[in-house]
Amino acid sequence: MAHGGLDPNAWREIFKTEAANLEEEKKHIWDLEFDDSITPKWPQQGWSVCNWKTSGRFRCDLCRRTWPSNLVTVVFIMRLKNGRGIVKTRLYRQNCKICKNAPMVKPDVDSTNIHSLMESLFVHSTL
Ligand SMILES: [Zn+2]
Repeated sequence: MAHGGLDPNAWREIFKTEAANLEEEKKHIWDLEFDDSITPKWPQQGWSVCNWKTSGRFRCDLCRRTWPSNLVTVVFIMRLKNGRGIVKTRLYRQNCKICKNAPMVKPDVDSTNIHSLMESLFVHSTL
């Protein structure tokens, strides 16, 4: 699986739940995209940037070992234009410290943590 432990559908579902209030109140439409090209120093005007840490669990593709981390870096950039909101997100990968040449893998983040990230995101969006 290309995304490792990451489940994009779970993220989208929680995103939709958290966006629902804004969509209802302000008639905005919000979308979430995963984009590995974004960085905390996103240079484009009109986007706001959030750079947070969360916790998650990684699994090595080679030895199947799993390890927890509370330093999973998540970047969001967001923009609202003509009632249409776009959020792009990137989760930073880690790799196994035991295997040689272990591939970088994406974390599995549990839904409670995804909820808090999304909550903070939408609080930020109304500032
Ligand atoms: Zn390994």
